[in-house]
Amino acid sequence: MDPVTADSTLQQEGASAVYFDGASSRRRTVRLAFSYDLEIREEGAAKIKWAYDDIRQADSPAGMLRVSCLSAPPLARLEIRDTELAAQLASRCARLGENRIGSGAVARIVGWSVAAAVSIVLVVLFAIPLAADRLAPLVPEGFERRVGDATEVQVKAIFGKKACDAPAGQAAYAKLMRELRVAAGLDADVESEVLSTDIPNAFALPGGKVYLLSALLAKADNPDEIAGVLAHELGHLKHRDNMRELIYNGGTSFLIGLLFGDVTGSSALIFASKSVVTASYSRDAEANADGTTIEVMHKLGRSPKPMGELLYRVTGKEGGSGLSILAGHPLTEDRLKRMSDEDRPPSGPPLLTDKEWAALKAICGPEDKKDKK
Ligand SMILES: [Zn+2]
Repeated sequence: MDPVTADSTLQQEGASAVYFDGASSRRRTVRLAFSYDLEIREEGAAKIKWAYDDIRQADSPAGMLRVSCLSAPPLARLEIRDTELAAQLASRCARLGENRIGSGAVARIVGWSVAAAVSIVLVVLFAIPLAADRLAPLVPEGFERRVGDATEVQVKAIFGKKACDAPAGQAAYAKLMRELRVAAGLDADVESEVLSTDIPNAFALPGGKVYLLSALLAKADNPDEIAGVLAHELGHLKHRDNMRELIYNGGTSFLIGLLFGDVTGSSALIFASKSVVTASYSRDAEANADGTTIEVMHKLGRSPKPMGELLYRVTGKEGGSGLSILAGHPLTEDRLKRMSDEDRPPSGPPLLTDKEWAALKAICGPEDKKDKK
């Protein structure tokens, strides 16, 4: 091989290394050329050559390859932060890791770390969305419940311990939830409360908890509007969308926690509960949950259209405010159209009597009702 050809492996413009000559403390920005030897080149200075077999790795902070050379001044150092450049050099230095962790090991590690970085990107882009769909049904219910419990703590921290508890209202709410839950085919573990807050919304938590926020209840004109919303949330529970979104959004850290059994670790749970409270669902998950609303309302002989109307009314006026689970996502108009297409004249009895509906509206007490009409 002639030296000119070898020169063509001169590193690309851009990536550079830092060289300390061992005599002064001056940092010199240099370029590396991979010829018969490693050539260290600095503008206006003589070329320095290091034999590949003499190059050894020195201790360095993470993210940097630092090497010395047996035939160079003892304190001379070369520092490389560019991963690809480090990998190119390491692949040529057969004895880089001698006296460290065995010959060749470091070269392999550097090479592998490039491959690993690429594969992590691939995993995040392609594998996790797939994995989320396949893993969500496999997440043990016990784990889901623990995430739900941790999330509930977050929810209480956000909304305060203001579950509404007017007895007649609670009875009406329990009746409504029971009908919906049975129609949705969910078991009695589902818990639900009305929380007093100004944010018009509703959401479901892992492990079977549904919350209706009082501001949304205040804006509802009839039981079917609220029933449709609650059925939608039951749909999220039924499809385990929480876990799906959690795995999707949490990506690698969540998967790693799951795979290594770190499920009781507080960091995993805090992360999980935060993302459940703040996350919005994907369009597919929303469409599926709306499908549950349609199914449940039809089963009860009621129309899903009022739910579409309620959300249209709410987000039309206050789109984007508050949590994004119901408000502020772009589907409101599509949703209303879909619900209208599924509109049917009632064939079942009203879900609540007028008296029960009035009691439900007053579940948070008269004050709450006066604030938001
Ligand atoms: Zn939803």
